[in-house]
Amino acid sequence: MGTVKCIGILTSGGDAPGMNAAIRAVTRSAIYNGFQVKGIYRGYEGLITGEIEDFKTQNVSNIIQQGGTILKTARSKEFKTPEGRQKAFENMQKEGIDALVVIGGDGSLTGARIFGEEFNIPCIGLPGTIDNDLYGTDSTIGYDTAMNTIIECVDKIRDTATSHDRLFFVEVMGRDAGFLALNSAIASGAEAAIIPEDRTDADQLEEFINRGFRKTKKSSIVIVAESPKDGGAMHYAERVKNEYPQYDVRVTILGHIQRGGRPTAHDRILASRLGCAAIEAIMEGQRNIMVGIQNNTIVYVPFIKAIKNDKTIDRSLIRVLDELSI
Ligand code: ADP
Repeated sequence: MGTVKCIGILTSGGDAPGMNAAIRAVTRSAIYNGFQVKGIYRGYEGLITGEIEDFKTQNVSNIIQQGGTILKTARSKEFKTPEGRQKAFENMQKEGIDALVVIGGDGSLTGARIFGEEFNIPCIGLPGTIDNDLYGTDSTIGYDTAMNTIIECVDKIRDTATSHDRLFFVEVMGRDAGFLALNSAIASGAEAAIIPEDRTDADQLEEFINRGFRKTKKSSIVIVAESPKDGGAMHYAERVKNEYPQYDVRVTILGHIQRGGRPTAHDRILASRLGCAAIEAIMEGQRNIMVGIQNNTIVYVPFIKAIKNDKTIDRSLIRVLDELSI
């Protein structure tokens, strides 16, 4: 592989606010440093079908404040096959793209790792997901915005919960990660969070009922991490209806609201820093790494580590929530 002249950029998997700020940063930093840039639409799918466009600085004007991704995103089954990736590689050659920056979550970075190794292409990943579930970075692009959206919603739910003395189960996103649930519970003053990381412990619902709700409070808000294994907020609401019929229970599933909206200052700055760092990494000859941030310092994390390792939840946060919800 010779020196890199042209960098391709794509967003893949679930969209996250701040992806546009990252696209802008990668594009501008690349052009600033003398590279050519090509925008690839609809993630790996667009790489396979050849939906690729030359990107100039104007292509990324006026997008830093917008949620979603101007490059669009997709889930590509074909890219999971060797034939699909072969097509993607051929299109890259045709377009003269010799390095790739992929903005996405766990799945997207897995794809980048496989593709990069298979065809010996420098691939750099940026963590773009509201779930914050990537190992090796304190924060992912979109997480802070999603958390702020959640607390805005929970503040509103609190008004009605208090007025009616109700118990609300609010379901938030996160797949199998409880970062959004636990931290938004702390930030919104919720009474408890039910998170997958705590699944092995004592029954979380029973604990909560015994500890908090019965004592001093007439209304309560419990944030539940969506989880295909546990059945989410609906499951817990059903249980309360059956086991503690004295409570007036309601469920709110926040859903896709959590993905949208203008990115917060935190996410814009994070995306801008990571985007510039991705270009720096390419100039240093790095490959097969995710660029992350740890203790406010840019770090390079080998894909294999970022994908394979589970990011652990800080258990002191569970204690903070417990202590403050009496
Ligand atoms: P996210 O990046 O948000 O975790 P997905 O898990 O849906 O989202 O992954 C996004 C895309 O990444 C998939 O649609 C697929 O094209 C690609 N991908 C995921 N896993 C693999 C894999 N094992 N091999 C090749 N490509 C993959």
